[in-house]
Amino acid sequence: MELSRKNLGIAASLTLEIDAKAKRMKGQGIDVIGFGAGEPDFPTPSFIIEAAKEALDKGYTRYTPSSGIMELRQSICDKLLRDNKVSYEPNEILVSNGAKHSLYNIFQAILNPGDEVIIPSPYWVSYPEMVKMADGIPVFVDTMAENNFGINLEKLKEAITGRTKAIIINSPNNPSGCVYKREQIEGIAQLALEHDFYIVSDEIYEELLYDGAQHLSIASLDPQVRDITLLVNGMSKAYAMTGWRIGYTAGNSKIINVMANIQSHATSNPNSIAQYASLAALNSSKDIIKDMVSQFDTRRRFMADRINGIAGISCTIPQGAFYVMMNINKTLNRMHNGRVLGSSLDFADALLESKNVAVVPGIAFGADGYVRLSYATSKENIDEGLNRIESFVKELV
Ligand code: PMP
Ligand code: GLU
Repeated sequence: MELSRKNLGIAASLTLEIDAKAKRMKGQGIDVIGFGAGEPDFPTPSFIIEAAKEALDKGYTRYTPSSGIMELRQSICDKLLRDNKVSYEPNEILVSNGAKHSLYNIFQAILNPGDEVIIPSPYWVSYPEMVKMADGIPVFVDTMAENNFGINLEKLKEAITGRTKAIIINSPNNPSGCVYKREQIEGIAQLALEHDFYIVSDEIYEELLYDGAQHLSIASLDPQVRDITLLVNGMSKAYAMTGWRIGYTAGNSKIINVMANIQSHATSNPNSIAQYASLAALNSSKDIIKDMVSQFDTRRRFMADRINGIAGISCTIPQGAFYVMMNINKTLNRMHNGRVLGSSLDFADALLESKNVAVVPGIAFGADGYVRLSYATSKENIDEGLNRIESFVKELV
């Protein structure tokens, strides 16, 4: 029998697939260097694990309110006021099963068939698919390495039509590491107000900043902007809690209510124990995050220096998140072991097969001249992985 035509067109998440493949190869005893993973390699801090154990001991193992426990929603409000200078009430917060689920709920809640959503490119792999799953149309606006992948407001203006319903901004950015400047954030807000569309602001990497880069939450600009913004964040990246699956959206209660209704039928509450663990994380000091960021920072410089020291590949130095976009344009259409590398997929495949190094092809992010490397792995792995990449590139004819 025929399956859903709309969903047959949805591609699997390439980031998750590559990560799973690298982990599987490692499990088989193969000496894989995994640069694919979009997750911190640090363990979840022990006080968070203790909070989860305590929640179990206290019997917090039943359904919670579908939108999340009140204490967690309140502590998210406190965090948003403290860190991001935006004021929300708990009824304007929806806790979901990871920020990915928050984003999914948003597009289900705001889009009608044919609505356009502007997505700066390179983009995180799931944005276009999520928009399509909600019958929307992704509209891409290219950003350039020469501008550190920052958004060009003139180009953005050209992409706006009468059907534009939203823009997705993701700063710090996955995959480019770009951190938007205040003028860019203000320019986007002004265009959204003028042309009447929503701003979906994915701030999941907000804590991972380097070289003095600052994060600015677009919703903090003024109450009118706050009203059209859906601010998304979560526990995965800042607290090394990828497997716990807690993310959240803050926004106008009218939209949050529609999202909450959808969630109440689709998943009910996010995991009760993970909610209590998240409460402990959000109420803690940020020392633990600072420590991780300083280690990421060292690895970031090391990775970028190594890449730029290899003839034929290059990168710009990212200011946020934990990814480097490695420019492979000069390697394309050359041959490795008799195989023509016609695309980023070919490059990534050949590298994994011949050198056991996993990277994500840029095509997953709409940027075929690149592959993405994550530096959420040890310095030793980065060094060894880049030795192998160097020998791979040297073997190209
Ligand atoms: N947004 C971006 C840009 C991401 O890279 C990720 C990573 N998975 C997410 C959202 C979702 O994170 P999670 O669902 O683990 O909270
Ligand atoms: N966001 C991470 C990445 O881009 C994790 C995988 C995923 O959810 O896509 O690799």
